[in-house]
Amino acid sequence: MLDLTHVRTVLSEHYDLAPSAELADGMQDIYARMDRVVTPPDFATFAPYIKAINALKKERNAVILGHNYMTPEIFHGVSDFVGDSLQLAMKASDVEADVIVQAGVHFMAETSKILSPGKTVLMPDMEAGCSLAESITAEGIDEMRAKYPGAPVVSYVNTTAEVKAASDICCTSSNAVQIVNALEAETVIMTPDQYLAQNVANESHKTVVYWPGSCIVHEQYTAQDLRNFREWNPGTKLIAHPECTPDVVAEADFSGSTSGILKYVTETKPEKAMLITECSMASNIADELPEVEFVGPCNMCPYMKKITLEKILYSLHTMEGQVEVDPVVAEKARHAVQAMIDMSRKLGL
Ligand code: SF4
Repeated sequence: MLDLTHVRTVLSEHYDLAPSAELADGMQDIYARMDRVVTPPDFATFAPYIKAINALKKERNAVILGHNYMTPEIFHGVSDFVGDSLQLAMKASDVEADVIVQAGVHFMAETSKILSPGKTVLMPDMEAGCSLAESITAEGIDEMRAKYPGAPVVSYVNTTAEVKAASDICCTSSNAVQIVNALEAETVIMTPDQYLAQNVANESHKTVVYWPGSCIVHEQYTAQDLRNFREWNPGTKLIAHPECTPDVVAEADFSGSTSGILKYVTETKPEKAMLITECSMASNIADELPEVEFVGPCNMCPYMKKITLEKILYSLHTMEGQVEVDPVVAEKARHAVQAMIDMSRKLGL
């Protein structure tokens, strides 16, 4: 576990990280990307970290890959590339840099390392896990193969390198339906998200069998919650992530991955929108879409929220938190991830 007292002692010896309204005033171009959701006093607190991280990135020839669920000061303040898991995986495979800092969770950093074995991949907090990734091991894949002989295994990218290595191909929530449909087999095994698998099955002509994992953030929503939201705030577009249960997805006006949600809201510009997903998603797109009013709810991912500006700065300063993947495992896992990237490109996703 990261010792935050030690982290703060080290940082205070090298950086002036006191809140500074003056420094914040000189960073209005950055603040403009988050001024609907971050107050000026909060930005004055973030500004010294943002300045130090952005300077250190140049020194280390580093890039920060920021997931859509990062808080706005990370998403808009220091990330070089932002997006969903698929977009970040594709970026990791072709970005020109010596160091990748993964502002996301551990399986994403592993994916970056798998795709870029020659680069240093930093995870600012090794405890930023994922309930889905923790729900299955490579033995679980073997069990599923034994139960459904001959069926290909499609594993969500929210899995460990060992699970990817045991799978035939990976998927993300933005390409799962297309990948399952493109496979030749009639029965497809999906792991580890039971709800994503059921939602895919509803849109596919295949028989989809699945592992019983779930996301602790998305499984909290119920169809009754959505009906209550509609009654409370009529006219609001309800937009759900496919890690939600099929009942929730059925009750929503639209369902899609985080990039699909962004596309839908950008194209349709509803007057009011409620994003049935992780809390920071709405905050991160609020400034880009001033005409859309984003209304509750706010379920936070405790794993994503482990990543902070302070931990990013510490990791870049010390180069601690390097992610390693066993080369034999990485080679097999790369095959599954690359198969997904190749198929996504072929399908024009
Ligand atoms: S939001 Fe859910 S799927 Fe995403 S990292 Fe958190 S627990 Fe995992």
